Amino acid sequence: MALTIPAHLLPADGRFGAGPSKVRPGQVEALAAAGAAVLGTSHRQPPVKQLVGRIRAGLATLFDAPDGYEVVLGNGGSTAFWDVATACLVERRAQHAAFGEFGAKFAASTAGAPFLRAPQVLSADAGSVALLEPSPKDDPVDVHATPHNETSTGAMVTPVRVPGSTGLMLVDATSGAGALPVDLAETDVYYFAPQKVFAADGGLWLAVASPAAIERAERVEAGAAASGRWVPEFLSFTTALTNSRADQTLNTPAVATLVMLADQVDWLLAQGGLAWSVARSRTSAEILYGWAEARAWATPFVAEKEHRSTVVGTIDLDASIDATAVVKTLRENGVYDVFPYRKLGRNQLRVGMFPAVDPADVEALTQSVDYVVEHLA
Ligand SMILES: *Cc1c(COP(=O)(O)O)cnc(C)c1O
Repeated sequence: MALTIPAHLLPADGRFGAGPSKVRPGQVEALAAAGAAVLGTSHRQPPVKQLVGRIRAGLATLFDAPDGYEVVLGNGGSTAFWDVATACLVERRAQHAAFGEFGAKFAASTAGAPFLRAPQVLSADAGSVALLEPSPKDDPVDVHATPHNETSTGAMVTPVRVPGSTGLMLVDATSGAGALPVDLAETDVYYFAPQKVFAADGGLWLAVASPAAIERAERVEAGAAASGRWVPEFLSFTTALTNSRADQTLNTPAVATLVMLADQVDWLLAQGGLAWSVARSRTSAEILYGWAEARAWATPFVAEKEHRSTVVGTIDLDASIDATAVVKTLRENGVYDVFPYRKLGRNQLRVGMFPAVDPADVEALTQSVDYVVEHLA
């Protein structure tokens, strides 16, 4: 090892990944406790169905879901959900806010659908945000789509409906759900995956859907054959809804992921719910950005303070410091995954500050970075 960080500077837990993210020891204990009664048993029988039911009810409580909103889930992660939404929720044309990799990927999904008009893509440079707009009069949109938190850049927005628009509001909350404030009445589909705030493994998508979104999917799928649209069963929103209402998934889920997810939802609720987790991540973010602002060689990548993510922080380092070497040295010392998003290509550190992460560990991370920067030079 090129450089040893003194033990008293190191975080107690060195996992700062933006997803997969730190799994709490309590979740691993929940897995052990699930043991032979749940793991390795049928997802069509009561124990696994009860687990799914616990997750659905817990999420509705955590997000204070308005009347009529339903928690739907399926296999394939948020990436699969983009195709579900393309196949079942966009009627004619979508509008996308694209200010990083993930927003742009959903836009690419609707752009590729032969049965939809080309989407309206509202782009902004990485590090800033694009905001949704009223539907263009000459070529209207029926879906407005935005990331809640753009994990690739560390920029966040507050999801709000577009004034005067009847379009559905689809919010990719994969890395924000459970730790950023949200009013679900401002959204029609608030979707995410379990490997970020919920600290489980990947592979599932979860969506809190409004009555309007459910009605849209029912109408689009019912008319699919007549309109020449192909909706594969795996991508059918109404099929996922029917299964979810029975606390099931269309095909076999990863049961261990369900166990860890359920444990994290219960943990968040027991700690004080969304208000608690929002505050905890915000405390971590204040530590990280405050540290960067106090260093001549570190700068928060997102210039506008209100758009600086409180769950995934991005810090540019001065060109005289090799961020790749810093990240590598940290990893050798048991501090993991603070590399920037691979395609962003910046001299940067990116830090997951999800509620499972102790703010004291973020503080220790900053001390560790100080030490590495000073001693690598
Ligand atoms: C991680 C992430 C995704 C991709 O999630 P998968 O479950 O890996 O498909 C999509 N959107 C955002 C904002 C993310 O952070």
